[in-house]
Amino acid sequence: MSDLLDRYAAVAGRESVDQLCQLAAPLKHITITHVSATPLGGGVAEILHSMVPLTEALGITTKWQIINGSAEFYQCTKDFHNSLQGNHTSISSAQLKVYETINEANAETLRHNLETSDVVIIHDPQPMAMITHFPERKNKWIWRCHIDASRPYWPVWKYLSGFAKQYDASIFSLVDFTHPLPHPMFLVPPSIDPLSEKNRDLEQEEIDKIRPLFGIDPERPLVLQVSRFDRFKDPIGVIEAFRLARKFNPGIQLALAGSGAQDDPEGEVVLGEVKRAAGNNPDIHILLLPPDAHRLINALQRSADIIMQKSIKEGFGLTVTEGLWKGKPLIGGNVGGIRLQVIHKETGFIVNTPEGAAYRIRHLLQHRQIAEEVGAAGKEYIRKNFLITRHLRDYLSLIYSLLFESNDQIELPTVRP
Ligand code: UDP
Repeated sequence: MSDLLDRYAAVAGRESVDQLCQLAAPLKHITITHVSATPLGGGVAEILHSMVPLTEALGITTKWQIINGSAEFYQCTKDFHNSLQGNHTSISSAQLKVYETINEANAETLRHNLETSDVVIIHDPQPMAMITHFPERKNKWIWRCHIDASRPYWPVWKYLSGFAKQYDASIFSLVDFTHPLPHPMFLVPPSIDPLSEKNRDLEQEEIDKIRPLFGIDPERPLVLQVSRFDRFKDPIGVIEAFRLARKFNPGIQLALAGSGAQDDPEGEVVLGEVKRAAGNNPDIHILLLPPDAHRLINALQRSADIIMQKSIKEGFGLTVTEGLWKGKPLIGGNVGGIRLQVIHKETGFIVNTPEGAAYRIRHLLQHRQIAEEVGAAGKEYIRKNFLITRHLRDYLSLIYSLLFESNDQIELPTVRP
């Protein structure tokens, strides 16, 4: 077994790595290509950075292609994203034309690679329309939707589902996010990589250095939310909760850490709103991080007393998985994949309003024992359910079933000891 697989076995358990080897054995001759919009920033990039080398370590040739787009293209795909999450966004036919033309150009650039892969996994709506340029394809194309599309703005879903229907299968993170499509649909929640810079164990010395670096007092409690500056992450609600909690715990500090994703043109505007809401309160720290500040985020999460993810819409919420993996008490919004990860009062706390969040902050600061127990339970829950090993196991199982058209049963070869 490769060194990388041994390292995963040490954290995720030998059994889960053995399962992966079993599943990979009949797939060793295939090539898988993932296609996404950005190499850095956001959850999709985060997952693929780990998924690709792990799949390769299992002996399956795996590639990751990034599409190219213009500012108009990213504005349009951001509008798609917001519309799938429920915003009534009107997208002009000129914008759709840009979307389709850019997809066509990318299809031509990537044609050889996509035609010679056995399985193509297209992530989210940005590269989704490329499929129309491969009418004669012989391989399997899967659309992987990472977005909370539970209540999409209907005209936009209708347009995008025209592309989705052409795929051989689709994958959604939660059952709530699905809509009927004429092909096999799979539910696969995302995951984190316990070995990545974002999640690996750190020495206490490194964790202790992080607060002074940002002017945060090491002695007083810190509430942290790590997120892109996006309204669906509700940074303003977090500030409101912080102000309410501070009336009872005047010593607390808040850090909102984030950066823009390359495909997110709204970030600057939301950041301006957040800065205005924070005013000149010296205990609200807005930390603008480079998109590759993984280790720094790891240390920040480990140094926080409470982690928040007060989203009002959320596909899955990798920041929740990351926070729980650090053994921290976590307060999350009652939406999307946060509900899958946070079992209220067992692995974290679910809230609906800034008032609810403020109450939980106070409660956790008063009851440190509860905070510790819930944090520890959260970590175990992630270990069992939301590590990259489980995620890849699900992908390989569904790829196997698509390639070998085994609909209801997967026969695994016996593994040699
Ligand atoms: N992230 C980051 N830097 C930031 C903000 C977020 O590296 O400034 C990471 C975060 O740690 C997580 C991912 O980006 O791994 C965000 O994934 P999530 O599912 O929470 O939200 P998304 O941005 O995909 O909506």
